[in-house]
Amino acid sequence: MRPVTILGAGPAGLTAAITLAKAGWPVTVYERRATVGHHGNGDLQGLENWADADDALALFRACGLAINFAATPFRELTVLAGRDDEHLFQCERPAFYLVRRGKEPACLDHGLAEQALASGVVIRCNETVAPAAADILATGTLHRHHFAVAMGETFRTDHADLACGLLDDEAAAKGYAYLLVAGGHGCLCTVFFDHFDQLAAGYEVSRQRLLARFPLSMTAPRPFGGVGGFLLENCFVEKGRLRVGEAAGLQDLLWGFGIKSAVASGCLAAQSLIDNTDYAVAAQARFAGRQQASLVNRYLWERFAGADYAAFLRRVRRAADPLAWLGSFYNLNRVHRVVYPFAVAALEKRYRLTPTGAPNERP
Ligand SMILES: Cc1cc2nc3c(=O)[nH]c(=O)nc-3n(C[C@H](O)[C@H](O)[C@H](O)COP(=O)(O)OP(=O)(O)OC[C@H]3O[C@@H](n4cnc5c(N)ncnc54)[C@H](O)[C@@H]3O)c2cc1C
Repeated sequence: MRPVTILGAGPAGLTAAITLAKAGWPVTVYERRATVGHHGNGDLQGLENWADADDALALFRACGLAINFAATPFRELTVLAGRDDEHLFQCERPAFYLVRRGKEPACLDHGLAEQALASGVVIRCNETVAPAAADILATGTLHRHHFAVAMGETFRTDHADLACGLLDDEAAAKGYAYLLVAGGHGCLCTVFFDHFDQLAAGYEVSRQRLLARFPLSMTAPRPFGGVGGFLLENCFVEKGRLRVGEAAGLQDLLWGFGIKSAVASGCLAAQSLIDNTDYAVAAQARFAGRQQASLVNRYLWERFAGADYAAFLRRVRRAADPLAWLGSFYNLNRVHRVVYPFAVAALEKRYRLTPTGAPNERP
């Protein structure tokens, strides 16, 4: 057991830190922002329950994490397509859990930081070290490889819990907008996957449409936003340093659900240090197929679902179990393998799927 240095106190870095500290390793996490979760601003994010057969919270527990943050299960989702089309999806098990990101109590980041501190991890905020001095890089989005840009507002409301998505290219080019409420915390956001210069205008359209459908009180608004980065060729190990979460390009290129991969990769990296096994091999086996499937899903989404979102929603509704149906797209299958070369050719240039620049500059 040697001292381990981790860069970045997001879900990936903190999961790695907790796993190592619980095994008795001395761990220091450097976070360049003033606090853990500083960039979140309380926005609601979803732990999706369709990519894996296991429940999202079970993944956290399997990684040795406690659920010491608010995680609100949602079994109902309203989706609007264009101006007139509306669908209500109802599931027997939660379709997703909403968690808040940020530094406040009950937020995911705050909860993970508390677990890390309780396990003996030293967290040094407002500080960083050179990547070359770190053992694990958990620095989040690779901006040079961004595929989606989000803009939104969090707010307080007296409205009941609510989850509503909007599919409309004017509101969110090739992406989606959403209005979420959990426990009095609200969040309205648009996520663009193309035409990023129209983000602000798209946010206004999203706001009008979603609030026209669900007029609700909004107090204490706060802006938030961010980008998602994706790499097809993951560099899980680079000059002895392990990359986890979005710093390894791990993301869901279809819709941008990256938290579960961040947690899973953080745990895997820590476990590989503890067991002295090859993280690159284990991570490649676990994530490479997912990344490829996700690339193909994005390609198919833009070609087919994007041509008629209402038809896509009707197709999902026809499925006996919509979650299982969605899940069937998340693991590499025969269709993915056939379509893969076309998807790479179509999206390589737009999204820069392969690493560019010196590896250490990537964060
Ligand atoms: C608006 C938005 C909505 C999203 N919604 C969802 C969702 O609903 N569901 C979902 O699963 N995912 C969602 N995501 C994606 C999800 O937030 C990320 O996949 C996840 O946070 C990645 O975790 P991470 O630990 O790899 O990186 P991060 O959470 O980005 O954490 C990285 C940390 O490293 C720090 N850092 C960076 N560089 C340095 C440095 N040089 N030194 C020290 N510290 C550094 C950063 O300040 C940050 O705290 C969303 C993303 C955005 C932007």
